[in-house]
Amino acid sequence: MPGFELFGDKERKEVNDVLESGVLMRYGFDAMRNGHWKAKELEQALQDKLQVQHAQLVSSGTAAVSIALAAAGIGAGDEVIMPTFTFVASFEAIMMLGAVPVLVDIDDTLTLNPEAVKKAITPNTKAIMPVHMCGSMANLDALKDICNANDLILIEDSSQATGATYKGKPLGSIGDFGCLSLDFVKIITAGEGGAVLTNNPKYAMHADHYSDHGHDHKGNDRGAETHPFLGYNFRISELHAAVGLAQINRLDEFVAIQKKNYTILRDALAQIPEITFRTVPDGGVESYSFLSFFLPDLETTRKASAALKENGIDACFHYYDNQWHYIRKWQHLKDLKTLYPVSQEVKNGLKYLETADYSKSDALIAKNISCLIKLSWTEEEVKMRAEKMVAAIKSIL
Ligand SMILES: *Cc1c(COP(=O)(O)O)cnc(C)c1O
Repeated sequence: MPGFELFGDKERKEVNDVLESGVLMRYGFDAMRNGHWKAKELEQALQDKLQVQHAQLVSSGTAAVSIALAAAGIGAGDEVIMPTFTFVASFEAIMMLGAVPVLVDIDDTLTLNPEAVKKAITPNTKAIMPVHMCGSMANLDALKDICNANDLILIEDSSQATGATYKGKPLGSIGDFGCLSLDFVKIITAGEGGAVLTNNPKYAMHADHYSDHGHDHKGNDRGAETHPFLGYNFRISELHAAVGLAQINRLDEFVAIQKKNYTILRDALAQIPEITFRTVPDGGVESYSFLSFFLPDLETTRKASAALKENGIDACFHYYDNQWHYIRKWQHLKDLKTLYPVSQEVKNGLKYLETADYSKSDALIAKNISCLIKLSWTEEEVKMRAEKMVAAIKSIL
């Protein structure tokens, strides 16, 4: 997945355009910038590629989620449904606004289980946020139906699946909002960065102003702009946008490489009868950023994970024992360890975590291994890797 693996002349050229003018900021300084507007160009490229009306670049994927929630008017005490398997950014972004993350079980798509979502809805629920983990997607039709029936906002986090599609549409273009990360380890990187995608002009205007101190961006005198509402600074720099611009133009190339590498590994592992693969919802096409599979149980999976490591196979993750991506290791959230006092609404809102039963998620993550698909492997390397993986896993079965 990481786009940084193929960082090269195209990225350097875009960055050099910015370095030559010295205008490192995305707004203003019109006369000095030699006609270069990398952030604006990248927004246009994201709109074209991901088929949305509006793309707002921001400083990170985490910021993108917070901005999407804020743009929809979600804040203090509101509940946002999110999966137990995701990156910590998901609950961080919700809690930054004083809202309450409500974690619910996943199914064998490794994303939100629509039945579990239905059960978690309360009068305080405002949004459902599926996270398209490891290159594949949630059942978006089912989640959309739930949102429509309950008047909820649908926010897709496609940070790990940019380039995947559902029923012919790019992920991130289907919900009320799409959020993506352009951080250093994502398929398209800007070094750091993120984007809020939406087809709703009001939400787009909110995201535009909110991510730049509430500036209305009218006219070309920044100092004279008005502030219709409060905002913060979540701007992307022109240097980062330049890297992202070179990379978005390579998205199809990157997905094609991933698909080729993924297919070699999958065909090899499919010969092991004990292995099954994650379910991809009907109509879904993966971005092939990861190959995710299941072994029979926790013990076998721990052994397989160790055997892969011992045989030099890197970047295969057993998230059950991992710090970052699964509820089991999020003790700092369960204990609400914050540097500052949080509101009573959040304290009360998170009490459910003391007794929540995530045994269904546990059972799936316990037996899952997800292997990162790299862009830089040669065909020889992938074939060798496939052989080694099969041998390592067979050795412990
Ligand atoms: C990387 C990631 C994010 C956060 O993005 P940053 O740009 O690192 O803040 C959010 N969600 C998911 C699923 C991610 O993988």
